[in-house]
Amino acid sequence: MALPKLYCTSCNYQFVPKTEKVPNRCPYCDRLGTVEKVMQMQDLLDDVGRETIEKEERNR
Ligand SMILES: [Zn+2]
Repeated sequence: MALPKLYCTSCNYQFVPKTEKVPNRCPYCDRLGTVEKVMQMQDLLDDVGRETIEKEERNR
C-alpha cells in the first residue's frame, strides 16, 4: 500500500513522507505541528468546493 500523502496546514505544501511516521515539522516552511494527512481526493475536492461557494456568497 502506498504511504499516505501529507500536507502542511500552514503553507499547503503537499508531500509523501519517506517513512510511515508523520513528521512534526513541515519540510517546506519549517513550522511545527502543521503537518496532517491528506484526506481522500474526494474529501479534498468537497472542501475546496465548499470554500468556493462560501467566497461566492460573500461577494454577493
Ligand atoms: Zn508548511
